[in-house]
Amino acid sequence: MQQAATHNLVDNVLVRLQALLPATRPIPLHEPDLQPDAWEMVKDCLDSGWVSSVGAYVDRFEQGLAEHTDIGHAVATVNGTAALHTCLLLAGVQPGDEVLLPALTFVGTANPVAAMGAIPHFVDSEAATLGVDPVALDAHLDRVAEQRGGVCINRQTGRPIRALVVVHVLGHVADMPALRALADRHRLKLIEDAAEALGSLRDGRHAGHWGDLTALSFNGNKVITTGGGGAVLTGDPDLARRARHLTTTAKLPHAWAFEHDEVAFNYRLPNLNAALGVAQLERLARLLAAKRRLAGAYAQAFSGLDGARLFVEPPGCHSNHWLNLLLLPDRAQRDALLTETHADGLLLRPFWTPLHRLSMYADMPRAELPVAEDLFARGVCLPSSANLVPATQVTA
Ligand SMILES: *Cc1c(COP(=O)(O)O)cnc(C)c1O
Repeated sequence: MQQAATHNLVDNVLVRLQALLPATRPIPLHEPDLQPDAWEMVKDCLDSGWVSSVGAYVDRFEQGLAEHTDIGHAVATVNGTAALHTCLLLAGVQPGDEVLLPALTFVGTANPVAAMGAIPHFVDSEAATLGVDPVALDAHLDRVAEQRGGVCINRQTGRPIRALVVVHVLGHVADMPALRALADRHRLKLIEDAAEALGSLRDGRHAGHWGDLTALSFNGNKVITTGGGGAVLTGDPDLARRARHLTTTAKLPHAWAFEHDEVAFNYRLPNLNAALGVAQLERLARLLAAKRRLAGAYAQAFSGLDGARLFVEPPGCHSNHWLNLLLLPDRAQRDALLTETHADGLLLRPFWTPLHRLSMYADMPRAELPVAEDLFARGVCLPSSANLVPATQVTA
């Protein structure tokens, strides 16, 4: 009986996917959308000879990002991980500090924390947004932490908890008004990992509006790509200046001398990649519209299907629909669907393995994580490229 029910649902989902998606195979999870204008801008960049970290396209790309997000300042970096590392440094995170972040995120959220000698402290997600649950986190901090001299201290480990990194998972903005209030109450710096959330709004504000610092990514699988790339966003001009300094080896301006005033990095985005970014940013509105249409087609295809539910953008959110998420009843059916779709060349993917289950992060401090575990067990990401045109409208 159980077996039959599993197969009915999984087969039903597969049939609806096959009806909706084009007949070409394989269909990847997410592909970049590169058009001739990208080629022209990259060629212009090559012709100018300014291919490295100084050049007009870097400035144009940064201006475009600041305008699009309406967050004062953007500093382009070589990737999203470097952008996050820069945000953590500017937030004052020190070796031996703890940094709160969700267990249900890409490993790139935690790696820069660990690489700087700080300790990821995993917290739970909420089913409504897929992001950090402010109510559960508040209760957790009341249990394990206390204020000492204006610093949030983990009573169990004795270490300062310096910052909270929230993630806008699959492009849905977390409950930022509540998380901003929580960060203020517990005196935490607030960083937004908006790697997946370019073009996503909550209450009419772009992701990154609430954080002290925000990181974007333009990796090949993100909403727009520069090949590899990222950016730090901040409304604070001093932090923006510091971000620019830290990502350019902390070199002091001088006509010919090499003077550097702190340990820093070569993290600036090359002009060649920024040229691609300028072209992609000009297409962003069309990409977002296409992704919204695809999300609508998925919603229609799975409406009225018992047992499987398409995750829809949370109330107040206008999401970029980076990846569409289908929730199945349990892990067995999730795995059965992944197996069947891969056999047909539909390259669906599960969520990232929650970070506390990875060997290098198994011993990190953590809250109870029931929602992260449940979403991981049941969630499947559907093919979501902007250039996927739904083949038919599924009705029954
Ligand atoms: C992609 C991603 C990153 C890392 O960005 P890179 O550009 O690949 O370094 C970090 N966090 C999240 C949530 C991501 O999706």
